[in-house]
Parts: sequence; C-alpha cells; structure tokens
Amino acid sequence: MGKILSLKCDNCDYSEELRIGNGIKDNDPDMVSGYFPDDRREIIHKITAARTVWNYRRIPVLCRKCGRFTTVPLFEALGNDTLRVAGKCGCSHEIRTAVLIKPEEGIVNVSCPKCGKRVRSEVIGLWD
Ligand SMILES: [Zn+2]
Ligand SMILES: [Zn+2]
Repeated sequence: MGKILSLKCDNCDYSEELRIGNGIKDNDPDMVSGYFPDDRREIIHKITAARTVWNYRRIPVLCRKCGRFTTVPLFEALGNDTLRVAGKCGCSHEIRTAVLIKPEEGIVNVSCPKCGKRVRSEVIGLWD
C-alpha cells in the first residue's frame, strides 16, 4: 500500500500531492516494467523472469529540469549487489541529478522550487 504525500510551501501557493510507494498491482512484472522507458523494460523483464528478489516503488523527488516535486519509478533487484533501475520524470528528464525528498516531522529537506521557502509535508491518505 502506498501513501499520498501532500507537500505545501509555507510562503507561496505551490503545492503537490504525490502518490508514493507501491500499489496492489505493483508485484506484477508486466505492470511494473510498463512504468519505465523502453530501454529499461528488457532489464526488468530479465531480472523478474529469473525470480530474483525485487522491489518496486515510486519515490518523491525534486526534478532539477522542470522544477517540480514529482515521483519517479524505482526498481531494485536485491541481493549481494543491489541493482537499481530508475525511470524518468514526466518532463522526460533523467533523475540521476534529482533531489530525493525526505519528509521528516512535517518538514522536507528541500526548499520550495518557486520561492525557496520552507515546505511542509503531511501524509493525507493511502492508495492501493
Ligand atoms: Zn513557495
Ligand atoms: Zn521534470
């Protein structure tokens, strides 16, 4: 079950609601691979076909290109060497340079992308 995270700037009107984590259908390899660009689907198919232990979730980030709070898909194959396959932002930007949002005690570790002030976080629901 995933969480719905509300991010609101203290100062301006910028806010986002992000669905993070994973849903009930996200243990299906075909469903999960569909969240990724074509070039990454094959890797995910190979890993899941080999029945390696794997995990999928959406993580909250600040995209440096479009300047928004958003989520990106992250696939992890667990083992001696954890292999990570990340998706792209909706603006098609790769997320290697995106800033991971860490909500802690109602405050997040990144500033508002519009005005630079403090951003508050709250879990406002669950989704599956
Ligand atoms: Zn702001
Ligand atoms: Zn973006």
